[in-house]
Amino acid sequence: MTAVPAATAPTALDPRTRRADFPILDRRVDGHPLVYLDSAATSQKPRAVIDAEVAFLSNENAAVHRGAHTLAAEATELYEEARATVAGFVGATPEQLAWTSGATAGLNLVAYSIGNATLGRGAPASARFALAAGDEIVVTEAEHHANLVPWQELAARTGAVLRHIPVRDDGTIDLDAAASMICERTRILAFPHVSNVLGIVNPVAELVALAHSVGALTVLDACQSAPHLPLDLPALGVDLAVFSSHKMLGPYGIGGLYGRSDVLEALPPFLTGGSMITRVTLDRTEYLPPPQRFEAGTQPVSQAIAFAAAVRYLDGVGMDAVHAHERALEQRLREGLRAIHGVRLLGDAPAGVDRVGLASFDVDGVHAHDVGQYLDSRGIAVRVGHHCAAPLHARFGLTASVRASTALYNTADEVDVFLDALADVRPFFGVGA
Ligand code: PLP
Repeated sequence: MTAVPAATAPTALDPRTRRADFPILDRRVDGHPLVYLDSAATSQKPRAVIDAEVAFLSNENAAVHRGAHTLAAEATELYEEARATVAGFVGATPEQLAWTSGATAGLNLVAYSIGNATLGRGAPASARFALAAGDEIVVTEAEHHANLVPWQELAARTGAVLRHIPVRDDGTIDLDAAASMICERTRILAFPHVSNVLGIVNPVAELVALAHSVGALTVLDACQSAPHLPLDLPALGVDLAVFSSHKMLGPYGIGGLYGRSDVLEALPPFLTGGSMITRVTLDRTEYLPPPQRFEAGTQPVSQAIAFAAAVRYLDGVGMDAVHAHERALEQRLREGLRAIHGVRLLGDAPAGVDRVGLASFDVDGVHAHDVGQYLDSRGIAVRVGHHCAAPLHARFGLTASVRASTALYNTADEVDVFLDALADVRPFFGVGA
């Protein structure tokens, strides 16, 4: 076993008591207790979330915002209560939170809505988002494809130019490059709060200040921060932000799009149809105000209610405690990885840089998929591949890496089990000394 220092950060959260809330954590894989280190892909769900969805489907299930019957009224009340709960979790008001099917859907919604504004659709206020040829959309080199491809598509449709802020060798965003790149041509700055590969918490305030100094719209991908840090989106000053329930202990198929009120009010809709209109004739339609303007179709009611149960669970633990616990795990993980011969960490920024509990790495001489399979044979679940961040991997000279990511239910012992198994990988494959 590699020598690893004891966890340093104080932690008020005892994951051993929390683990009993997550039924799946009792599982065994290949005869070993499951060590789940893939929460950045999707988190496990506590009993409270599973029960909330089952209880709604068993007792109140009905479509919301329509129908005069008791179930419809109860379902609508629970659904809107869920919106208020999730909005409150990120510091927002209910009107500032539109449901989406996930972060990918939220980012596409924003990009296509801006495309519609460029086509002259929407209210007169929508014209502020219209792009012209030569306008610039800026992202970072550390994007998940969900915060890259929609902007590539928008640039192709509008003639805008897509630029990217480089990432330094240590994984931090090059703020000097950002300052020289962001200029009066910049109309949109989209960036991750936390990269799903590097785990580094990016300097939101600095990036927002740069964008706002030239009047650009800011779009924050908060997928990997919302499950792990206290989050106050209005206080961060971003115009729009997205997050996904399934990474936050909640169910699949639902996420949030936060928007500053004036921004959401001015954005034209993307998906159109039922539930988002005030008046429809055969020729034209008037739309509801936000958030309903962005919620076409029959709504994900049971998912919204279970998502609210998830953020109540997180609130019950306390996001400061979650962050402190995961920082301690992250330090143990990173220290241990550095000590294993042949392991190269991606984005090993200095100790002062804030992080969430994940680390991606390359094992010299062994393909990431082989590492993943070996770990799986010891009951350990990690993610392998490019983690939907191929350009970032290319920047580090890789096509794939291994990622271990933690959540509030992981223990220091599990990190040690993982490090022990990883230390055996190169000898197992007969690689290196
Ligand atoms: N952004 C980041 C940073 C992510 O990690 C992910 C998921 O891995 C996404 C966006 C996309 O989230 P979803 O697949 O839930 O839409």
